Amino acid sequence: MPFGKHNGKSVEQIVLQDYNYFNWLNREAKIYKNSLRQRIELVDYASNNFISTQPCQLQDCQEPAQLVSIYHNWDMNYRGSSHHFIYCSQECFNQDPSITDDKRKASLEPLRFLTALSSTKYDTNKLIELFAWTMGIKDGRRTKEYLEDFFNNVKTKPR
Ligand SMILES: [Zn+2]
Repeated sequence: MPFGKHNGKSVEQIVLQDYNYFNWLNREAKIYKNSLRQRIELVDYASNNFISTQPCQLQDCQEPAQLVSIYHNWDMNYRGSSHHFIYCSQECFNQDPSITDDKRKASLEPLRFLTALSSTKYDTNKLIELFAWTMGIKDGRRTKEYLEDFFNNVKTKPR
């Protein structure tokens, strides 16, 4: 990234560390450098169309997760989830015995980075961490090289 508050970071680092800013870059920023524009578009496509490496969390279902249950606490202005709450389908979510009375506070949303956009940076970042894990990004060594290679090779839904 040749400018702005993340000057010196790679596009892949920005999508993981500051999704609000990435989204602004993708939608609003005037980017004249073709290679940079193309990289942002590739990373945007991959982060919103990846095939989950993690299965549905309903017991015995092995289908890749496609949905995430987001828990809302309006009073606390909190929005979040965890690795227990990813599903292949609405049916599996409905059958999950671990969510009972909380179902009214949960919304089932697509498992993609755009779902993480929240009113607070904290909530956004926590959800991005969860989605990066379902995407298959390893925690340990997130170097520029590792992330560039990862996004080049991640499995996505066909365009
Ligand atoms: Zn399932």
